Amino acid sequence: MFVDVAFPISQYQVFTYKIPKQFAKIASVGVRVRAPIGKRVLPGIVVRITKETSFTGKIKNISEVIDETPIIDESLWKLIQWISKYYMTPLGKAATVIPANLSVKYKPQEQWMVQVEQQNVSSINLAKSAPAQANVLSKLSEYKKSVPITKFNKLVASPLTVCKSLEKKGLAKLYKEVSTPTANNFEFDPIHKEIHFSDTQTIAVNKIEKYIKEKKHNGMLLHGVTGSGKTEVYIKIAQEIFKKGKSIIILLPEIALTPQIAGRFRAVFGDKVGLWHSKLTGAARAFTWTNICNGNYKVVVGARSAIFAPLLNLGLIVVDEEQETSYKQEAPDPRYHARDVALMRGKLQRAAVLLVSATPSLESYYNQIMGKLDYCYLPNRFNNAEYPTVTVVDMIKEPEETGKIGQIFSSSLQQKIEQRLKNKEQIILLQNRRGYAPIYRCRDCGEMLICPTCSIPLTYHRVGENLQCHFCGYLQTEIPQQCSHCKSSNLVLSGTGTQKVEDVICDTFSEAMVARLDMDTTRSGKMLTTTLKKFKDGKIDILLGTQMIAKGLDFDNVTLVGVINADTGLFLPDFRSGERSFQLIYQASGRSGRRKKQGEVVIQTYNADNPVIRYAARLDLKKYYNIMIGERKELNYPPFNWLAKTEFTGTKKRTVEKTANTIRNSFQKKFKGLEILGPAWCYRERLRGKYRMQIVFKSSKELDPNGSKLHQYLQNNLLDKKIGSGVKINIDIDPVSLL
Ligand code: ADP
Ligand code: ZN
Ligand code: ZN
Repeated sequence: MFVDVAFPISQYQVFTYKIPKQFAKIASVGVRVRAPIGKRVLPGIVVRITKETSFTGKIKNISEVIDETPIIDESLWKLIQWISKYYMTPLGKAATVIPANLSVKYKPQEQWMVQVEQQNVSSINLAKSAPAQANVLSKLSEYKKSVPITKFNKLVASPLTVCKSLEKKGLAKLYKEVSTPTANNFEFDPIHKEIHFSDTQTIAVNKIEKYIKEKKHNGMLLHGVTGSGKTEVYIKIAQEIFKKGKSIIILLPEIALTPQIAGRFRAVFGDKVGLWHSKLTGAARAFTWTNICNGNYKVVVGARSAIFAPLLNLGLIVVDEEQETSYKQEAPDPRYHARDVALMRGKLQRAAVLLVSATPSLESYYNQIMGKLDYCYLPNRFNNAEYPTVTVVDMIKEPEETGKIGQIFSSSLQQKIEQRLKNKEQIILLQNRRGYAPIYRCRDCGEMLICPTCSIPLTYHRVGENLQCHFCGYLQTEIPQQCSHCKSSNLVLSGTGTQKVEDVICDTFSEAMVARLDMDTTRSGKMLTTTLKKFKDGKIDILLGTQMIAKGLDFDNVTLVGVINADTGLFLPDFRSGERSFQLIYQASGRSGRRKKQGEVVIQTYNADNPVIRYAARLDLKKYYNIMIGERKELNYPPFNWLAKTEFTGTKKRTVEKTANTIRNSFQKKFKGLEILGPAWCYRERLRGKYRMQIVFKSSKELDPNGSKLHQYLQNNLLDKKIGSGVKINIDIDPVSLL
């Protein structure tokens, strides 16, 4: 018997091995093995078993079989093959979407639990005869449910012995429980809710069920305005699927940011839900994977990589906030898009796929218009909550009126905040930039402080007093007092980050309780969940944050959302920058007035005439999307063209440039409908010490309907090209940005 094994290396082939007798029984497709390759022994995955092989060279033995049972099934393997092909990634590398180091031998720990037998307690007095038992019993009686006996570690020397004595007397019950590994506080408490669907929601549920019955397996876009109850609608659908014995994947862009959704799933599906995300510890990862494989978990809620959860009998995949770019894996290979992989997995496994959003990606929106996706629209907020009213403040005019220059709060936003504070209502403020000031510059010669390996400006952080690079994490604790170029000491901070806004809030509204949520304050998951909980409980008046607070959050008492600077990101040289800005403003606005009270939104901008700002302020999605469709068509961008990008990176600028040009000059004649741009330096020309050049390919969908011409062209012209050392090439199919 022979096996073909795929390794995580950059070669587009699999390798053949013999199976020694002792492994013959356990070797099957989908198990991982170790096998010699060159001088090393590497882990790989068995992708085929055959009786004969056409390979004529010397065939080695595999050295070890890692798994007792396959960690993926055939359909998942098919999906990985598709990924390898579509994203032009060697099979072994595509297979790295299966988490490494899944110790299958992991056995969860057991712990002793104890619960009081209330009805027997009053009849016995232990205080004198057994003080230790009395102590534990009195503490135990305070808990209504069972607790781990470790709770009493501080109280008595040997809680187990004491509890056993209590059990003998009929005062307590002891039992062992498997303790699921918790994942750095990313476990969520169940959120129970009574749900009565409105008429429009019922119509939506029926429509989705009808679509699922039809088994078209093409995917459906569930588009609903913010607060329309999309989550409840897809939970309902998931319940129906679950009743049929099928399993479900729910993808969220960033699971830590959506504790409310994870909590709702906990409430509805209890211990049938597994959470899957990057913050899991090794043990938790292995535990979860095993429970998915053996069918204990029927529902997986997770971030991007959860699309590869090895669920059997998959019935539904939900991709919530499907427009989010965090669904795209940028590095390492494969550079896949989880939404597109979801659509493909749905096809392969005959599962329904629901793409959910208040602000769909332009691609999905257009696909819906063209009938490629089914469509379901929720036009109203739940409970007929009103849309917020939106005011745009032109910050150019603002200083003239108030005499203050470069201020952070317009007088109108300031007044509205004061009013909310008086009414005990809550406020969300969006400033999509962390740190204190994004630029530290010499006023005399203009020289900026930049990251030594990325060549982009360093951001000043007041918390911790340092300068940081937001790309590579470079940290400089010494703040220079003199310009390195002209020796002037006239250095100034410019631009505004969340820390600065926080300072100004504290100065301006000294009575208010303020919390800041950005990457700096949420490195630990605990901090994030406690802040959100405090806000929910009304212990925080103003929640300030970056884009992470713009979506998904659902708070009753928020009646004002302020966008401090709507222009951040608006002018990035990328075909998607308008779309992104629109979505951000629209989503942030959606946090306001989600219940009875009328909500308000204030958008501060220096570009009040910009169409993105104008239509976002009117919450007029359709209009703006139609404008975008026109622009994309004119400029040959998706959804009208296939897009691919190759990046050349290396530490020597000249070598990168030379290689890119040589490769470009070696390209075959273009086919009709193909456009090649570049090589050009990337917008961020140097990151992490590497220079970056890119070539962009666009292929008209009209002339290349399934993209195969472009794939073939890239294959012929880029794969297995001999390039000198010192430069790396990567290929990005359907890049989400060209920056
Ligand atoms: P969306 O995701 O569309 O912004 P959500 O699903 O978060 O909206 O719903 C907004 C709020 O209204 C949530 O608190 C949700 O629990 C509640 N809600 C929505 N539909 C119902 C319903 N049918 N019954 C009870 N509460 C609902
Ligand atoms: Zn200077
Ligand atoms: Zn850097």
